[in-house]
Amino acid sequence: SESCKPRSGAGSPCVICMLELARGDPVRFLPCLHVYHAACIDAWLLRSFTCPSCMEPVDAALLASYETH
Ligand SMILES: [Zn+2]
Ligand SMILES: [Zn+2]
Repeated sequence: SESCKPRSGAGSPCVICMLELARGDPVRFLPCLHVYHAACIDAWLLRSFTCPSCMEPVDAALLASYETH
């Protein structure tokens, strides 16, 4: 039934802090299209260059391109 479908896409939580990604929050998309709070994924990537959802390797060079200031 409809209620059995997992929630995905908009409204999915940041799996690092388990809080919903709210409109207006600074967020960051990884190459695998998982999205996290910018502060959460920045702290995570200091420890591990993998996506915390799917464990895809994250290219450090690509991360550097995120820096906008
Ligand atoms: Zn978060
Ligand atoms: Zn991912």
